[in-house]
Parts: sequence; structure tokens; C-alpha cells
Amino acid sequence: MKLTTDDHGRDKAGMRYVYPVVSRRARGVSIGINLNTDNACNWRCVYCQVPGLVRGGAPEVDLARLEHELTTMLARARDPQWMERHVPQDARRLNDVALSGNGESTTSAQFEAVLEVMAKVLAAADLLGKLRVVLITNGSMVAHARVQRGLARLAELGGEVWFKLDAGTDEGRARLNDTSMSRERVLDALVTCAGLAPTWVQTMALDFEGPTLSGDEERSYVELLLLARERGAHLRGVLLYGFARASHQPEAARLRALEPAELQALGGRIAQATGLIVQTTP
Ligand code: SF4
Repeated sequence: MKLTTDDHGRDKAGMRYVYPVVSRRARGVSIGINLNTDNACNWRCVYCQVPGLVRGGAPEVDLARLEHELTTMLARARDPQWMERHVPQDARRLNDVALSGNGESTTSAQFEAVLEVMAKVLAAADLLGKLRVVLITNGSMVAHARVQRGLARLAELGGEVWFKLDAGTDEGRARLNDTSMSRERVLDALVTCAGLAPTWVQTMALDFEGPTLSGDEERSYVELLLLARERGAHLRGVLLYGFARASHQPEAARLRALEPAELQALGGRIAQATGLIVQTTP
């Protein structure tokens, strides 16, 4: 097994919940936790790379197994010989542990219990507060009290949230993410989330029979970020991603990556219009 930045297969390590991946943005190893072993998500983004994606939420998690797998993978990722065998030379460092699955992690009824497992394993490895913990989420479940408690706990662990926002309008979200989550609910969720844990906005920009973020859509997106800030959200910034890995959705053939210069220019416009830091990854 050699990890590359292109291969985000969740079964690389032969484990059920835990998988290693080389992050193209951070040039390091990220240990992913996939709670959605049923490939079920409450959204269906046109660019989603999950094969056989179905609608739904995470199934029951075997917490003891998760603890064992995370402990094992952390030990491997701290072993120089394992790094040498499996990771390209320029990425041989442990970057983070990320709740990032084949679906939306916060649909798990055990979201809080999973965070406790992560806290326990990180503390046992003397990595609590030293290794970055990330929750990658579409933000759709933030209104739930159990998710809010989980976000507060994540912050206690020194963690941060990457909150998906690909469109400003309801139409844009319906087309790209296949969700009916309204602009007002997205705004509420973003403000609540940022109030509970350090939050980055994570945005995918691509060509889906035209650029997904331009014209009215771009204006609406920028306006939404400004509104969130007006309502007190201290956003860390925007992680702007290009379309780099194959979609497994029916729309795949209609999707293209933006030219790197086009993506950079978009990042520049978002930064100028919002005053936020924008980190762009083609
Ligand atoms: S939120 Fe993530 S897992 Fe769910 S459909 Fe979108 S890209 Fe796929």
C-alpha cells in the first residue's frame, strides 16, 4: 500500500472506521474516521467521490472497535518505518485526525461518544491538544442539541470545523448539493457552529456547465459570509478547493475543474469582498 494524494480509499488500512490519507493541501498524513460505513449521506453533492452513495445517516458505531483502530493507526503513523514504506517522502508527517466519512458524520447518534473515544485515544498517545482534530461537515445537523454539545467538546479538544458551503442561493445548493436546506438555516447553522468551535468555511468551486460560483451565485455566497460575520460568527477563513478527484455521481461527465488561474482569481475576489483569509487548493 502506497498512499498518494489522489487515492482517498477508505479501506486502505483494512480497517472499518479508520483510514490514512495524504492531504494534498497540507502535505502530510491525515488519519480519517469514517462513521458512515453504509455510504449514506443526507446530501448528494454532484462531485461526491463516494461510490454507491445512498441517502441516509450513519449506522451504529462499534466504539470499542473504533478505539482499537484509532490507537493502532496512530501508532503506525508515528512509526518512521511505516511512514517510509507507505508515504511519499515530502509528506512524512502526521498532520491531523479528521472526522470525514462516506457521508455526514454528525448524523451519527453517537457523535458525542465518538468524540470521547477520540479524546481518550489522543490523551493515551499524549497527543491531546498537540495533534489537530478536524470535523468536516455539511453543517446540516447543527441545529440539533447533541451536535452542538459535540461541537463544544470538539473545541475543548482543540479541534476545528470545516463547514461546507458551495453556493449562496437555495437554487445553487439544490443543484450542487441536492439539499433543500434554506439560506436562513445555513446562516443559522454557520453562526451557531462558529460560536461553538473554530470554524473554516470549506468551498468546492468547479465547472458544472458553467462556473458554480460566479455572477449572482458568487454575490449571494459573499453576502452570506458577510451576514454570518455581522451576526457574530468569527470565521477562521475560507478553504477554497478545486475539483480534483473523480465524482461517482450521475453528473460526473458534466463536471470539469476550473483553470487554476480562474480558481485563484475567485479566491482573490472572495478574500477582497469578505476580508477573510482564503486558502486556495486547485
Ligand atoms: S456532504 Fe460530503 S459525503 Fe455527503 S454527498 Fe456531499 S460530498 Fe458526499
